[in-house]
Amino acid sequence: TSFGFKEVKEEDKSQLVSNVFSNVASNYDLMNDLMSGGLHRLWKDRLVSKLNPFPQMKHLDVAGGTGDVAFRILETVKSIKYRAIQDPLDDHLLEETQIYVCDINPNMLNVGKKRAIERGYGEDKSLVWVEGDAEALGFQDQSMDGYTIAFGIRNVTHIEKVLSEAYRYDYYSFSIIPALGELVAGDRESYQYLVESIRRFPPQEKFASMMAEAGFQKVEYENLVGGVVAIHSGLKF
Ligand code: SAM
Repeated sequence: TSFGFKEVKEEDKSQLVSNVFSNVASNYDLMNDLMSGGLHRLWKDRLVSKLNPFPQMKHLDVAGGTGDVAFRILETVKSIKYRAIQDPLDDHLLEETQIYVCDINPNMLNVGKKRAIERGYGEDKSLVWVEGDAEALGFQDQSMDGYTIAFGIRNVTHIEKVLSEAYRYDYYSFSIIPALGELVAGDRESYQYLVESIRRFPPQEKFASMMAEAGFQKVEYENLVGGVVAIHSGLKF
């Protein structure tokens, strides 16, 4: 049986997405590399460099999966801290950065936690792993400096809900990579789903106007690889 994304009822979509990512969790990184030719690494570097994270930042990475974006943020902040500790007066910068990795799928989070240990971040209190739905987040309003969602918003049922949830926080910056599939799932249905979700995602201009409608200002996007991937950003003042 094949399913088209269109045939999937809204209420079934969350379950479907959950199954897809449970199926692919253990191979997720390999698939990313295969499908993007390793380019997803550069795109994520670019995302984090645009975000410009800083020590003591409270950041929320939604659909954070295996921690790819969060690790980059942490590494960037650590490199800043490393410079800061040369100055003893800046010692306090060593504390309090918090990067919340939020994902609806516990299997993806578990792979991320394992990778954090492998990278020597097992005891790092800056990384906080949280199971949660992008459409209804359990954090307080204005509790974050930044929000990112990378290769995740196309998987949600209601983009508008995700955007209005995103807007609840106090943003330093808001960045998104909406387009492009980078996964080949181990089974045909998962793959089919991922391909459909890419095809159906609104084009760059449309998504930018949806962000503006959600309240974001200075909405911009940068196309990468001729628009196969784009990074959208917006600010909340
Ligand atoms: N951000 C990571 C990256 O770029 O490597 C992971 C991207 S992966 C393609 C999409 C992730 O979105 C999966 O881990 C999936 O579990 C998660 N996801 C799907 N629907 C979600 C939702 N409603 N709320 C939070 N996470 C969701």
